[in-house]
Amino acid sequence: MRERIFSLISKYNLRPNRDLGQNFLIVPDIIERNVARAELSESDTVLEIGPGLGVLTDELSRRAGKVFAIEKDHRIVEILHREYSWNNVEIIEGDAMEVEWPEFNKMVSNLPYQISSPVTFKLLNYEFEKAVLIYQLEFAERMVARPGTRNYSRLSLMVSAKARAELVEKIGRGAFWPKPEVDSAVVVLEPKPRSERVELDENLTKALFQHRRKKVYAALKDSRHIIGLDKETFLRNREIIQKVPHAEKRVYELSPLDVLDIQNYLLENGLLHEKD
Ligand code: SAM
Repeated sequence: MRERIFSLISKYNLRPNRDLGQNFLIVPDIIERNVARAELSESDTVLEIGPGLGVLTDELSRRAGKVFAIEKDHRIVEILHREYSWNNVEIIEGDAMEVEWPEFNKMVSNLPYQISSPVTFKLLNYEFEKAVLIYQLEFAERMVARPGTRNYSRLSLMVSAKARAELVEKIGRGAFWPKPEVDSAVVVLEPKPRSERVELDENLTKALFQHRRKKVYAALKDSRHIIGLDKETFLRNREIIQKVPHAEKRVYELSPLDVLDIQNYLLENGLLHEKD
């Protein structure tokens, strides 16, 4: 596989584009393990973001019924069309954050790190069964962090509100060419059953996590503008806001259900407005 990548690179004189996060996987075992983790069968439709030189795509095409691969770099799209004759792979040329995603039930990708965050938030709004994704290690650790721990962030909260996330493997930088400056990790995401999912208000979570080490009341006070409260309204309702659930907790200790309590309380008191 390593040879295949390097021969394609030299055949097409391809200079990897750092801005597009082009670090190609050159260790076949990692691809095999990730494809196995996705538990693919003929009935699966897989979405891959950033197929690069097609090594992962090729394995996906062998195991799944259909693969959609979204790739932004026109040079790479041309190489994929020339080098492979897949009959169940559709390459979509474009920016994964701009093109419409086709229907899929699984996602397997070595993500371009620049768009890890928007891709993950977008994915969480889809009905999917399983995603096996490679991220920067630090990002992966934040994704799976538990309340009250050092890495717990708005990302951890939003992921755990909708899905179970498990960091299943760390990957050293030597597994990629060119070598990135950071290590990576594989995260497996599976949506929680609907009844366990929590819909959180984006502005409220942003307001709280702007001040992750502060207590809830102080965080709300300092970020009141983010939830649309002017100083006068905040002061007028100060006593109500002081009684907000979990007021004594620090923001980084809040679970999704805690934030939901806060959200419902603010909604009931007319201090937060439901989105249309
Ligand atoms: N899957 C390949 C592998 O594992 O070797 C390549 C992964 S490489 C980390 C990321 C790929 O995503 C590159 O091919 C890059 O051109 C592509 N890419 C970067 N930004 C993108 C975007 N916004 N939309 C779609 N593809 C993108």
